Amino acid sequence: MRVEILAVGTELLLGQIADTNGRWLGEHLAAAGVDSYFHQAVGDNRARITTALRTALARGDAVIACGGLGPTQDDITREAIAEVMNVPLVRDAEISRRIEGFFHARGRAMPPSNLRQADVPQGATVIDQTRGTAPGLICPLGRKVVYAVPGVPHEMAEMFERAVLPDLRRRMSEAGEGTGVIVSRVLRTWGTSESALSEALQGRIDALDAPSRGDGRAGTVTMAFLASGIEGIKVRLTARARDEDDARAVLEAEERKVREVLAATLGDVVFGLDDVSMERAVAALLVEQRLTLGVAESLTGGLIAARLVGVPGASAWLRGGVVAYDSAVKFSVLGVPEGPVVTEDAAVAMARGARRVLGAAIGLGVTGVAGPDPQEDIAPGTVFVALALPDGAPPSRSLRLPGDRERVRQYSAISALDLLRRTLRTPDHGFEAPTLG
Ligand code: ATP
Ligand code: MG
Repeated sequence: MRVEILAVGTELLLGQIADTNGRWLGEHLAAAGVDSYFHQAVGDNRARITTALRTALARGDAVIACGGLGPTQDDITREAIAEVMNVPLVRDAEISRRIEGFFHARGRAMPPSNLRQADVPQGATVIDQTRGTAPGLICPLGRKVVYAVPGVPHEMAEMFERAVLPDLRRRMSEAGEGTGVIVSRVLRTWGTSESALSEALQGRIDALDAPSRGDGRAGTVTMAFLASGIEGIKVRLTARARDEDDARAVLEAEERKVREVLAATLGDVVFGLDDVSMERAVAALLVEQRLTLGVAESLTGGLIAARLVGVPGASAWLRGGVVAYDSAVKFSVLGVPEGPVVTEDAAVAMARGARRVLGAAIGLGVTGVAGPDPQEDIAPGTVFVALALPDGAPPSRSLRLPGDRERVRQYSAISALDLLRRTLRTPDHGFEAPTLG
């Protein structure tokens, strides 16, 4: 069973919005073990929508069309599907009543055009709308099928899970197709390059490609690299297997091998799995070690504190932050010695100041030049990050970061958090965990 996705909306073509529905559907079809070889995006144009539908139906068994089901004149997915089915649209009395009820319940007058949403291609089944006003459609064309779901992401997702996927599964089992599963796991890295990662992991990639392993039934794994800018580089492992348990088992085994190889070649570059962000990784370590944190930020202007506050439960370990942007503030509030402020020593003094002023176990200081202009004759992208720990020499790091002002600031924030993470993960970082609160 091959399923194509057709995203409808001129705003997609103009680049005004990204096709996140296509991405979401792709991910969920894969998780359900359904093949999806083509995604299309098309504008709100009836002739082009019918062409796109016919193209998709010619090479696939099912199409999921999302968007263009609303009440406005440019919502014409219904008309295009009816044309491809070669049937008329019939106004459904039950849907009409519901739409009228929706407006009535909100005390609003209903613009008559809303009733267009009650038009159903003859022979199609309606997917009840539970969230918005536009119902979805299941439209049979011989042994093939077109599903129409709204463009609003949460309405689309809800209808897919409630009605589209169960219908697809039924069709697949009727066609005698076993539905295996495809499951992915992402190892998130910071502090290395895509080429270094792929060189380090070449041995694993070769091993996964080797035709001789297993009987292919227990599960196969593929590896891919995704450069994700300010969120680092992701190593994605994808397993295709009979069921979730098999997939999980092969993923776990491969993850262990990948981690071993990376630890031996590139060091502690893996900071989290799947949707674990850098700040979550840091938070978990602070909680585990019962440590509190205070930050002093110059060029990041609060980005680090904002990321940390985004982690639920941050009040247990985050004392606060000082945005010391002007040099005078670094001197007076943080006690940085008067002199140059874009130096490693200044970063160390800021970290110590944050620790003292905020009453935290650990202080984190960041100073540097975001650009576009140099400061103190120092080039944009030069950044110093330092930690002040309860005892011992503070680790600090100087960085040369690429990109424009915004990128340098974002890279600085995640790099500073990564220094803290790596330090906390060093088994013997040489300080005692004081009690919290
Ligand atoms: P409604 O009944 O709410 O009008 P609709 O089926 O007519 O829904 P559209 O009008 O095409 O859908 O889109 C509604 C909104 O959903 C858009 O403004 C857009 O924000 C979002 N949307 C549409 N298509 C996509 C897509 N492919 N990916 C992400 N968001 C989308
Ligand atoms: Mg609409």
